[in-house]
Amino acid sequence: MEKRTHNCGELRKEDAGKEVVLNGWVDRIRDLGGIKFILLRDRYGFTQVVFDPELDDLYKKALTLSPEYVVSVKGKVVKRPPDAINPKMSTGEIEVHATSLDILSESETPPIYINIDDEASEELRLKFRYLDLRRPKMQKKLILRHKIVQKIREYLNNLDFLEIETPVLTKSTPEGARDFLVPSRIKPGKFYALPQSPQLFKQLLMVAGMDRYYQIAKCYRDEDFRADRQPEFTQVDLEMSFVDEEDIFNVVEGMLNKSIKESVGVELPLEFDRMTYAEAIETYGSDRPDRRYGMELHDVTEIFFSTDFRVISSAIEANGVVKAFKVKGLANRFSRKVIDQYVEFARSLGLGGLIWIKIEDEIKSSILKFCADEIRTTVNSLSAEKGDLILMAVGDRVSTSKALGKIREKIISTELPEAQGLDILWVTEFPMFSFNEEENRIEAEHHPFTMPDLEDMALYKNSDPLKIKSRAYDLVINGFEIGSGSVRIHRRDIQNDVFRLIGLSQEEADKKFGFLLEAFKYGPPPHAGIALGLDRIVAILAGANSIRDVIAFPKTASGSDIMTGAPSEVSQSQLRELKLSLVKGEEEEK
Ligand code: ASP
Repeated sequence: MEKRTHNCGELRKEDAGKEVVLNGWVDRIRDLGGIKFILLRDRYGFTQVVFDPELDDLYKKALTLSPEYVVSVKGKVVKRPPDAINPKMSTGEIEVHATSLDILSESETPPIYINIDDEASEELRLKFRYLDLRRPKMQKKLILRHKIVQKIREYLNNLDFLEIETPVLTKSTPEGARDFLVPSRIKPGKFYALPQSPQLFKQLLMVAGMDRYYQIAKCYRDEDFRADRQPEFTQVDLEMSFVDEEDIFNVVEGMLNKSIKESVGVELPLEFDRMTYAEAIETYGSDRPDRRYGMELHDVTEIFFSTDFRVISSAIEANGVVKAFKVKGLANRFSRKVIDQYVEFARSLGLGGLIWIKIEDEIKSSILKFCADEIRTTVNSLSAEKGDLILMAVGDRVSTSKALGKIREKIISTELPEAQGLDILWVTEFPMFSFNEEENRIEAEHHPFTMPDLEDMALYKNSDPLKIKSRAYDLVINGFEIGSGSVRIHRRDIQNDVFRLIGLSQEEADKKFGFLLEAFKYGPPPHAGIALGLDRIVAILAGANSIRDVIAFPKTASGSDIMTGAPSEVSQSQLRELKLSLVKGEEEEK
């Protein structure tokens, strides 16, 4: 085979006259007045190759070409005449006049289009992923991912971070999702768990004195597939010793500034905004607000202090609040039918109902006849204008805010055009614990190695642990939680208190995390860390709707890989070797 002298995106008018060899795929074939034009493609671009009918044998060979054939073409670089210049192509000022052609491999008609942007169904794209990835549009996304990862590495390496790999066959980690299990053949009946994150290992690396660790780490969580999740995903995972949250913020701010600027040219603020969890819930009803849409929640309780309208006055008497937010220009979209759907949605979120105000030629509202003055004052206090819509709810402060937050998100995703730009912020001071209604117990909101706020801990650990704040933080971009981390506990007394509060006995703690607790007997340094979701960061920067688009070989929403057929059955002999047998009924179900 004639090896290439240039790639398909490389030749310029300065190369005119050179004898070159190109290797690549046949992207498009055109016939103009008997002359064959072949567009040759590789990862780097396209080059037009011309076959002249006067070179008879060569021309005949060119006639046998079809799209996606792989060829090696030798020829001469020729400047295109001015009217044939294609300014959209990097090689658009030249073409290669072929002098020989070698067909390296043939191709059947591909099941999905590679050379035109006609999106096939996702199922087909995933089944023939290698063809889908041959499309320049998809290649760009993986190239962007590569660049971002390299910039992140560069940044962290310059700060003396060590890239260290941690095991994939391991034991359960504390993120609280379901584990993927791997049966051990050598120890029948025993299982490895795939790590939900490198959490415990990175903390052990701090005990080991590594000081600064990072890893582009695969994490595995066997969750039901909500929204845009993958059972295996990638984190930029890091941990530092002798630091507090400010140091982590600093490193992440610098790292994202560099990697985003140098990969997509977008400048982020040097320091990201910060908002406490309590503020985020109060103002957006969410711990991952997308502030690009505005629509802040306002506490308008005072306006309704002396209303006679029982629904509101009785809620206020019971210490409740009235909260409202304005949606600009959406009044006319909220027909009766649409309003009914939102009221229904509000009820499913636990609200008693949803109060609406539409500012049209006059003010209209579901409760105008009960409290016209208060409604007018609310309209003024939110500076609502003609065309705007206000939605309101009453009840307990936190749950009302959270429910309105969900309604706000639904409006954003279904009624509003996608906002532009990047909204990036830290959300801090998360609660240490939350209440798991289903299991009727307190659990760690982040994970149990997160350092609680020690003043809160002293005040509330024996009376109201749900009031204790933690030193955990999230990084939020455009409404996605793209990172979370915390200052860790490095003192045994605090760790024991936390285990006790989440109902974990010493014995259970030893069984689950004994090796970490043991390590903490031998001088653990104060440490803190964070993990960022790489797939989501790349998806946001690539303008992709789904993280599947920025993962080379993703799984479908139901966790299968259509291309390889995983997960798939295994043979009886494999099961026998592992001393496993399938439970009857379930085996038959398949
Ligand atoms: N391991 C944690 C997670 O995956 C992140 C961290 O605390 O560093 O959520």
